[in-house]
Amino acid sequence: MRILENYIDLDNIENILVTLSKNYESIINSDLAEYKNQTISAKIELDYSDKINAEAIETEMGDITVKITLSYFRELEAFYKTVFYKENPGFYRSISAESYFNESRAVFYLDLMLKLSLSVFILHEYGHIYNGHLLYIMKAKNLNSARMTNNTYEEFSTNTIDSITYQSMEWNADDFASTRLISIFTHDDNIKILNLDNSNCIKSKEHMLFIIMFSSYIAFALMGLGEKKQFSENDFRLKKHLPKRFRAKKFIRNLIEAYNHFNEKTEFSDNQLLSAVESTMETWVNLYKKIAENKDNWDTSNNTNELDEEHSKYYDLVEFHYLNKLPTILEPFERLRTLM
Ligand SMILES: [Zn+2]
Repeated sequence: MRILENYIDLDNIENILVTLSKNYESIINSDLAEYKNQTISAKIELDYSDKINAEAIETEMGDITVKITLSYFRELEAFYKTVFYKENPGFYRSISAESYFNESRAVFYLDLMLKLSLSVFILHEYGHIYNGHLLYIMKAKNLNSARMTNNTYEEFSTNTIDSITYQSMEWNADDFASTRLISIFTHDDNIKILNLDNSNCIKSKEHMLFIIMFSSYIAFALMGLGEKKQFSENDFRLKKHLPKRFRAKKFIRNLIEAYNHFNEKTEFSDNQLLSAVESTMETWVNLYKKIAENKDNWDTSNNTNELDEEHSKYYDLVEFHYLNKLPTILEPFERLRTLM
């Protein structure tokens, strides 16, 4: 089932990351230039630590860095190379909406989905930068640099920003990423460009929405949506990020909302779209973990308490803070506001 040969070499990976990031930066900068007559330029780095998948760093001197870890890139690469293997045509069929496997088209979808999954976190980090989160942390904590990482297990130290504000900023960065993914990739011109050499791999705008939802959900699922926790964790209210099952669901809901905002409204209901994405993509990820990595502790039945009533009540509180308090907190620091 797994294809281990032909790993992408390091120069190529750096090239992919820098090209993607700089493309996004120039698109977002054109909004910033129009709005505030400013632009930013971030340094894009491939990081070799294996605990986190992405981070954003900003200093008071104005140096900005976005890091993506090699281990995360490799995980996406191994996953997609495995599920798009010709002897596993089910995955190809569910992505392409075609009946028969076609190798050159499979390579197109693999390349697109790998880039979209990476972009979930690249754009999330840009969200921290453009929405002014790092500038706010520097000011609030009287620091000369600030750093936000996408390490889900990280907890608060006693001298940091209050947890609900921090979690709201993470929520804001996810919304920034999902909104930009939709506005960029469902744009008519971009679909035309993608279809130029690949005889209509993207069948429609809605097909593109599905591919974005699938790739995003896979990015979250590979972070451990269905991984049984080894030990009982401390209070979820004290973590920097909200639990993954909630984050992933919220991300997909925001993709749908953004799609309906920027395009003609989709004929599918939110719940139809969510159920088409959640169970199918997580099942592929858990199956991959079981077969390719011999991990028996990945299952869709794990961590479902993250969506129970007790958790949901807390998410409502964070949402209230996000919608009603965060805009005022960030107002002096934000470069741009999330589009919707
Ligand atoms: Zn973050």
